Amino acid sequence: MRSLCLYLSLFSALLLTPVFADASLNEPLDASRNHDVTGLYTFFMVEDEDEISLQQAIQSYRQGAFRPVGKPVAGFGLNPHGVWLRIEVVNPTDRTLHRRLTVETPWLSRVDFYRLQNEQLLAEYQTGIARPLSSRQSDHRLFVFEQDYAPGNSTIYLRLQTHEPMILPVSFSDPVHAEKRDTLSAYGYGMLYGIISGLMLFNLMLYFSIRQQRYLYYVLYLAMYLYNNISFTGHGYFYLWQDASVFQQWTDSLSITLYATAGVLFALSFLHTREAFPRLYRYTLTGVALICTLQLLFIIGGMHMASVKTGMLYLMLFSLLTFGYAILSYRKGYKDAAYYMAASIATLVAAAITPLSVLDIIPFSTFTFHAGEIAVAFDSILLSIALASQIRHAQYEKRQAQKLARTDILTRLNNRLAFDEISKQIWIETKQNDSDLCFIMLDIDHFKEINDSYGHSAGDAVLKNVSSMLTKIVREDDVLVRWGGEEFAILLPGSSMQQAIKLAARIRKAIENLGIKAEGHHIETTVSLGVACREHETRSMDELFATADERLYRAKQEGRNRVCAGEADDRP
Ligand code: GH3
Ligand code: MG
Ligand code: MG
Repeated sequence: MRSLCLYLSLFSALLLTPVFADASLNEPLDASRNHDVTGLYTFFMVEDEDEISLQQAIQSYRQGAFRPVGKPVAGFGLNPHGVWLRIEVVNPTDRTLHRRLTVETPWLSRVDFYRLQNEQLLAEYQTGIARPLSSRQSDHRLFVFEQDYAPGNSTIYLRLQTHEPMILPVSFSDPVHAEKRDTLSAYGYGMLYGIISGLMLFNLMLYFSIRQQRYLYYVLYLAMYLYNNISFTGHGYFYLWQDASVFQQWTDSLSITLYATAGVLFALSFLHTREAFPRLYRYTLTGVALICTLQLLFIIGGMHMASVKTGMLYLMLFSLLTFGYAILSYRKGYKDAAYYMAASIATLVAAAITPLSVLDIIPFSTFTFHAGEIAVAFDSILLSIALASQIRHAQYEKRQAQKLARTDILTRLNNRLAFDEISKQIWIETKQNDSDLCFIMLDIDHFKEINDSYGHSAGDAVLKNVSSMLTKIVREDDVLVRWGGEEFAILLPGSSMQQAIKLAARIRKAIENLGIKAEGHHIETTVSLGVACREHETRSMDELFATADERLYRAKQEGRNRVCAGEADDRP
């Protein structure tokens, strides 16, 4: 969370940095200066149903049909009609300037460029993703038009059209300056794709080692984001599916749909929705299936605009809905849902920054325009941290479960499973060092009578009292185990027969004197003990156990409340 705050404050610092200070409206654009955005020098007109020609557009301008854009970046939302932009350029110097105009929206299906000087058409290009890459004046992911601007005025007309969001940042500058911006943006995308691919690989490896689906969903989600990004930014068209312009026209809505779907699947598994809210889980999956079917129908039916709109709506719905699911999960006790909420908030903040900057409510800059991409890089890292912390949590739970599986529930002593493991190790060490090893087995006398006279829970209380007394008496290195029922055993590494008998005698005495209060009764009890120590001919641990058991049986036979150790017995 602290890193989120740091990130957000860094981000707002970037926002506050003034990035451009452009001249006022109604002046021609000064070609001797660099303009990263040109909206304030631009006039626009939206076509009606029918496409118009350049001559008609010029006519319309003369008739006052063009209006000033009035903000750094022109935006027309989802508008299937053609939009005309007109920029008056002046070269105030006395030499010819070579300048580059870039339409920075890579998804425009049609981009027509006209340049006029003294009413004469100097240049004309017709490109856009609906046309092959060879229609572009220069080999570039964006729509780039380089021209020589002689001293004096000239006019640029652009006709732009798309089925997708019409955000139209247009820059005009010295090509060297433009190339610097290109390099910067290439670094930026390189970093973004590097982070996403690195995280994909990392989580894929986690998936192969842990085999939990959420890692695979996360990899899928990142992959779909990558696809969505290269689709929208034109990197895919320019580098991967060159000239597949039909695919390029559908790839954006296809990639949004896949991205949102992968996002929903990942969120459902990350937020434990299936376990926590089974009905919500089923409804969500049904919703996803419906939207995907609808999108498929739109694609088959060639309904481009409907498909884009549905995709965008789906993406918004996905962000808001899964944010809600994260709150629900968090309230149900899944604390890692907080990571998801933090990541969602970052995305939502970033998602608001880009439109706000396009609308000129906050200054437009490379950072504000790419806020969404910066946020995604941040989110991906945050979610990877969350996934890693889920592993840590799972490991902790596994250790707890292992510990529980090795502990006797009633007495909290080692159970036989734990004892078997420990004693095997001790046997190996004892053999290697040829050191002493003794074993005491003890059984509560007439325990059945305690149960019968005072009840089973009184019997339990006696078992607990005896085991805590044993815990107090044994040394740190001794291994105490509830052998079964009302039998206990102690393994004594490094103890001689004498020491073991002494300990057994102490135990016998201590239990004899242990008055137990249980269920309103005062219960007195005794124990019988068998002691055995490793000798040269003892071949296995089991042999040692058997000898101790035999001696315990003898202690019982000889009258109980006594220690039997072969020769040197202890009795009251
Ligand atoms: P002896 O002196 O020969 O050992 O007689 P005993 O009655 O102690 O021995 P026996 O083996 O006949 O009875 C053991 C009883 O311990 C039988 C069983 O119901 C009881 N028991 C075993 N585990 C538990 C337990 O966890 N809680 C309680 N309350 N009783 C238990
Ligand atoms: Mg007994
Ligand atoms: Mg018994």
